[in-house]
This record gives sequence, C-alpha cells and structure tokens, in this order.
Amino acid sequence: MIHKYTVASLVVLALLLTGAIYSATAIDPLAKITPQSPAVAQASTTDNTDNGHQTKVDIDPQAKSTNSNNPVKNVYLTFDDGPNSHYTGLILDILKKYGIRASFVVVGNAIEKNPEVLKRIVHEGHCLINHTYSHDYKKIYSSPWVFLNDLQLCNQSIASVTGSTVTIFRAPGGPSNLNNSYFDLLSKHGYKSIGWNVTSADTDPKGVSPEAIYNNVINGVLEIEKMHRAPIILMHDGTEINLGQATLDPAVRNYISNRESDVAALPGIIEFLQGRGYTFAIVDAQTPPAW
Ligand SMILES: [Zn+2]
Repeated sequence: MIHKYTVASLVVLALLLTGAIYSATAIDPLAKITPQSPAVAQASTTDNTDNGHQTKVDIDPQAKSTNSNNPVKNVYLTFDDGPNSHYTGLILDILKKYGIRASFVVVGNAIEKNPEVLKRIVHEGHCLINHTYSHDYKKIYSSPWVFLNDLQLCNQSIASVTGSTVTIFRAPGGPSNLNNSYFDLLSKHGYKSIGWNVTSADTDPKGVSPEAIYNNVINGVLEIEKMHRAPIILMHDGTEINLGQATLDPAVRNYISNRESDVAALPGIIEFLQGRGYTFAIVDAQTPPAW
C-alpha cells in the first residue's frame, strides 16, 4: 500500500516537473490573440522566405471571398517534422476540439521514437505525408536515388505502425530543392510531391510570437485567395532537437518556444478560417499543387 502511494507521488512529482520545464518556455496558451486591424495588416509584409515568395496584403481581411478555382474553399493545415512526444498531442487536442482534420508531414526517425503518437494521428482521422526518414539535407539531396531510398525508409516506419504506406511526400525545405531528375525518379515510383503556399514562418531561429504566426498565416491566406488557390498552410509540430541537452543555446530555445507559439496561435487561425467559410481538408491525390 505504502509502496503504491510512493509510486503515485513520484508520478505526480514527475508531471509537475515536466510542467515546470515546459512552462519555462511557454507562452500562455489561454492568452487571447488579437488579429491585426485591416489597416495594420495592409501595412505589414509577410516574410514567406521559406517558399521564396514575399507577399504584401492589400485586401480587407474581414471580407468573405469567393474562389472560382477552389469552389468548396478547401484549406489544408499541415504540420511538419513530427510526430513529437509533446507538441503533436497538444495540436491533436486542438484539432479534436474544433472537429477538424489536418495533414501530418512525418519523419521516419521521429516515428520510431513516438509510434503511439503516430497511431493517435491516424486514429483521429488525420492523414500522413512522407517527409523522409532522416530529414538530413546533406544526405537526401546528394542524389535522387538516396532521396528515394529515404522516402522508402520512412514508408517502412509508417507501415510498421499503421500497416500501410503513403505516396504523397513533402521534400524537407520544400520542392524547390528537387530538380527534374528527382521528380522523374520519384514519380516513376508512384510518389507525388506536395509543397505549401502559406507559411507561418515558425522556424525563425530568432523566435516567433503567437501573434506573428497568426498574422503570417492570415496574411498568407488572404494573398492566396487573391490567386484563387487553396491555401496549404505550413506549420511545425516536430522538433529534431535533443531536449536532454544540459544547456540549450538560444536558437534551440527559440525553436522550442516557436512550437509553444504554434500551439497558442492555432485556435485563432482555425477560427479565422472557419469565419471565412473554409472547409478543412486533408491532403490526398486530388489536392491541387501549391503553386
Ligand atoms: Zn521538415
């Protein structure tokens, strides 16, 4: 009996300590994110450096849009680099609360660390996209065959947990890293590339606030609407960082706090998209290319 209570106390203590560690970098997730006024949004520039597109917003964010090439107004939320033992679950909780689906762009070596998280993603109706096994730029961009092999390894990890493979992939860093020899080989093997056209810029090593993530996404969506395309939004749930490090350098700290910002910004982003009449779709073979 005493032993049982001791174990229970240790579990409680461990949970408290975990909370303390995360709260060190946490931004209050309950804090209300106030959208920028249209005037401010018009003046701001979204730095979409991830996809090489600088966008300037010059339309009324409150106005409902019609979209001829995206008549059902699909929007795709995508989360890269997981599954992650902490942040993926927080994001799944938010998606469940709103009753919406998203696409998780998963890395093979993260699946091996967090197979239960991958199971939960699939069980809750979200889709998986192959993001290579290693996510190691030096390796995967050394040749098309190495890249293909890394995709196959990731598919082995996915299949070991879910029983099936996926044919849609996202190149780490984006499709612009691939030339025609990559695309030729990958399409021969049945793979289809998916990029993004709206970035949250949540990998900024200088750190990014929930408000900045919210505004980056909203401004990007408004820009994509003008092009009559379906927004494919890039965010991150994963971290490739070893949290066991004794001391974290500032860039690493910022990377972690950026994930906290993602979690804090997500409800506001979802509510904005719902307010504009979007349907939350998951990426499949019919999903139009980002560009
Ligand atoms: Zn990635």
